[in-house]
Amino acid sequence: MKSDSPSSLIECLKAARVLVADGATGTNYQLMGLEPGRRPEDWVFAQPHKVKTLHHRFIEAGAQIILTNSFGGSPLRLKDSPYGAAELNRRAAQLALEAVAESGKRVLVAGSMGPIGQLLHPLGPLSPEEATNGFAEQAAALAEGGVDFLLAETMFDLREAQAAIEGARRATALPIVCSFSFDQGTRTLMGLRPRDVIQGLDGAGLAAIGLNCGHSLEESAEVVKEMAQALQGRLPLWCKPNAGLPSFETGAATYRVTPQQMARWTLESLRLGARIVGGCCGTTPEHVAAIARAVASYRAGEMPADDRL
Ligand SMILES: [Zn+2]
Repeated sequence: MKSDSPSSLIECLKAARVLVADGATGTNYQLMGLEPGRRPEDWVFAQPHKVKTLHHRFIEAGAQIILTNSFGGSPLRLKDSPYGAAELNRRAAQLALEAVAESGKRVLVAGSMGPIGQLLHPLGPLSPEEATNGFAEQAAALAEGGVDFLLAETMFDLREAQAAIEGARRATALPIVCSFSFDQGTRTLMGLRPRDVIQGLDGAGLAAIGLNCGHSLEESAEVVKEMAQALQGRLPLWCKPNAGLPSFETGAATYRVTPQQMARWTLESLRLGARIVGGCCGTTPEHVAAIARAVASYRAGEMPADDRL
């Protein structure tokens, strides 16, 4: 959906109360043939039809928000790549918008911006200004490509998140969502607790805040609970956890959480206060279909039997 106004995300949330977001990008591409070690963003140019196929599968499964294939699209991360960040992010946005237009459905496109991959001063080589400039360049290209809002996701450091928000704001008036990965259980890599994130970004003018990726579903539920308590309904809560922890028995990461288990988790997170629900690594279109069924039951005020999820 091409946005009519900068607040389309908020308007959709008001109308629908709860929105379904899509699932994983990287792990689904691997199931579709992405070679280990190759970056998912390469497919924007190498396999654009597969990028659109996954968008279509998520939309068919019931996703009302899809994410652009631009997680690793920071210019600071693409220094050695054959293409420029501006063209990659713009094209990733266009592919998502084309899929939405072809579906004929009302679906929002989130411009995904992942971490830069280098730490900020004094722990790493990056100055806050360099980080902000990198995010601004990425956000400008995603906005030019037509995204409805920007999503700084899998964040773990407050200062990098602040640089992403500042960079996005410098580049565009689109709404900004910020989401953290609590991959140390209920803390981020930098040791942040859910309430630290909420307090740290209080007043940042976000459209929504929350979690993605992370650790086990049980721990993600704890994070949702703590975030909801700290938020007190001031902002919509964004929840896109991994489909549990991967196992590496076959060499490649395998996620064993079933669509039904993911749907049960979704219902629990909605009761705890989540407003936008989807999945991260390991979340297939089948998982998203089960999440969408759980959301439909929740909207209808029903308690679905397990065999209906
Ligand atoms: Zn993930």
